[in-house]
Amino acid sequence: MKIAGCGAVVITFLPRIAFAARNSLQGLRTGAQPGGKTRLVIETSIRPSYSLDYLSEPARLVVNLSNTAGASGVKPSLASGTLIKSLSQEQVGDKLQIIATLTKSISEIPKSQIMILEPNGDSGHRLVFDFSAGTAPAATTTTTAAAAPTKKTRPPVIVIDAGHGGKDPGAIGRTGIREKNIVLTVAKKLKTRLDERGYKVFLTRDKDIFLNLDTRAGIAEKNHADLFISLHANANPSRDMKGFSVFTLSKKASDEEAQKLADAENAADKIDVDGFKKFEPNIKLALSALQQHAVSELSVEFAAGVSKSFKSAGIAQQPGPALRQAPFGVLRSTIPGALVELGHLSNAAEEKLLNSSDHQDNLVKAIARAIGKYDFDI
Ligand SMILES: [Zn+2]
Repeated sequence: MKIAGCGAVVITFLPRIAFAARNSLQGLRTGAQPGGKTRLVIETSIRPSYSLDYLSEPARLVVNLSNTAGASGVKPSLASGTLIKSLSQEQVGDKLQIIATLTKSISEIPKSQIMILEPNGDSGHRLVFDFSAGTAPAATTTTTAAAAPTKKTRPPVIVIDAGHGGKDPGAIGRTGIREKNIVLTVAKKLKTRLDERGYKVFLTRDKDIFLNLDTRAGIAEKNHADLFISLHANANPSRDMKGFSVFTLSKKASDEEAQKLADAENAADKIDVDGFKKFEPNIKLALSALQQHAVSELSVEFAAGVSKSFKSAGIAQQPGPALRQAPFGVLRSTIPGALVELGHLSNAAEEKLLNSSDHQDNLVKAIARAIGKYDFDI
């Protein structure tokens, strides 16, 4: 593929499509938005499924649209003075790559957002990226109409993951209460409450079965979840340790204890040899910096909401920072989300609480309240 000079539009030769693509490209445009934002809109015939890659020299964002046919008739429409200087499409098997050549490296574009918009008026399904470099690029003209503003057209989709299950009991309390059972009960209660409030809710498991971490994250992806919440209960060598904690994903743990906890929670996959083999390469296939940034910002926002809501419900917090980060396998997806350790089964009083229906209801109410306050931006 050749990239021409600044401002040029390159249409890559599209080979004859030898597969039955479900999706097709219908539009490709950029626009300058208020506040110096650059908007990239990729319009498709059905809801797009995508992954991202990032290439340097020149800085390019590659959007891989799965099972999508390109269209040589779709000419990119480029607004001048934005962070995108050219757009091209390239068919790679059944995947269509949209290549956006950027005027800055991705690390200089710290504030980015990705949205999938449903058809609205004359517009079809759209994958929308908003890039912001912090300082406003000098937008001289706006030649392209921007995508329609976001509008609530469907209920938010939430995937609730009850940790562990089947051969993996998770933490075990002093009286033999098992994490896998407690979190399943809480997950089911939470689903009932959220169903009543009009959310579309899926559970990764609704019975005592073992699922590897990749399968759990995959359920969120498959259902195009807007939010993923993984429920756990903790154990600590110190029987005095108690309280909840909320985690978001990061490559590096925020502290040594968080790393130990992630190791313990991730260890379950080692029981399932096949699952673990499949999981490892996926970790290496780390999400692009851009996507990670957008997902982690939303995840932290949600995690902070859960923490706040628990505290205002009088639920004991584990000593230490309210929000922590660790490389949890189950959070490895493109969906914003958090892992909540509801409390410590290793603490006698808290084991009793976690097993009580009233306390479980309090936990569910507090999580539902945080979800109610979360800005889904659909
Ligand atoms: Zn756990």
